Amino acid sequence: MLNQTSLFPKNTAGYDLHTHSTASDGSLSPAELVEAAMACGVHNLAVSDHDTLGGYHLAKQHVVKKDLGINIIPAVEFSSRWNTRDPDDGRGMTVHIVALHIDPEHLELHELLAMTQQARAERNARIKHKMTKKGWLDVFEHAEDLAEQGQLTRTHLARAMLDLKKVSQYRQAFSRYLGEGRPLAVHTRWPNLRESISRINTANGTAVLAHPLHYSLTRKKLLQLCSDFKHAGGKAIEVITGRTNKDMIEQLCGIALRMDLLASVGSDFHSPRNGVAQLGVQQTLPDTLPAVWSNWSN
Ligand code: AMP
Ligand code: MN
Ligand code: MN
Ligand code: MN
Repeated sequence: MLNQTSLFPKNTAGYDLHTHSTASDGSLSPAELVEAAMACGVHNLAVSDHDTLGGYHLAKQHVVKKDLGINIIPAVEFSSRWNTRDPDDGRGMTVHIVALHIDPEHLELHELLAMTQQARAERNARIKHKMTKKGWLDVFEHAEDLAEQGQLTRTHLARAMLDLKKVSQYRQAFSRYLGEGRPLAVHTRWPNLRESISRINTANGTAVLAHPLHYSLTRKKLLQLCSDFKHAGGKAIEVITGRTNKDMIEQLCGIALRMDLLASVGSDFHSPRNGVAQLGVQQTLPDTLPAVWSNWSN
């Protein structure tokens, strides 16, 4: 497989396969995201909101209505649980899987969306309960207002804490309250890695392990995650994101080659105000590494 890689395009210019809109925790509407991506030279855009296809549908509608020259790839960033000892066990840590080029109508996709949205609703109810006991119901309600019709995420809760002066910096909301082991963290029953990937595959999607270096894992654990991901049917890992430097990209390319995983590229763009991850991908993939879009027919 790897010998054929020179047949495939490696130029990542024009690709961004991981972005967020107001359908989840992005700050641009899907239509604004499309326009901003085009202005950055992106021609293949995956609108990959957390646990919803809503952003994709609205982005696609905008492109059709305005007859724009940009390809919108159906995508979702799924929350999933990974257990280091037993991949079938739903406990463990949360990892994100970007499902790309998926059949937006497929029943298996809709079942997985229903499962993750249900887990999110249960989690948010438990966070609301904790916040109410703390006298912070107004913070929770403000977060609901910020999310409007989109998925209510911890990003909205963090922004609400900042707006209502419960923290002085956005990051503090995670380090003090929402992060793992903190007082407002609650266990969430996301579908496990194997089930999530299996459903993505059945719905003709490509399962991509999102931002592998964001999970603060030791090298040994990271390799175990990538190996479990591959054995569960995962096809690719993100090797270039908005926050990867040259050394990180090299490390991730090495893992992808070693595990025979395809390479994906995506900024994980959330907002133009966040200077870290802007739209589009500047770096190119090495010739030896097949890109995730290599085997897509359109
Ligand atoms: P949720 O899916 O509701 O758990 O929210 C996860 C989102 O919160 C991520 O996609 C990030 O956008 C954001 N997030 C998670 N952890 C942090 C952190 N430590 N600092 C800033 N943003 C974070
Ligand atoms: Mn997010
Ligand atoms: Mn993520
Ligand atoms: Mn993301």
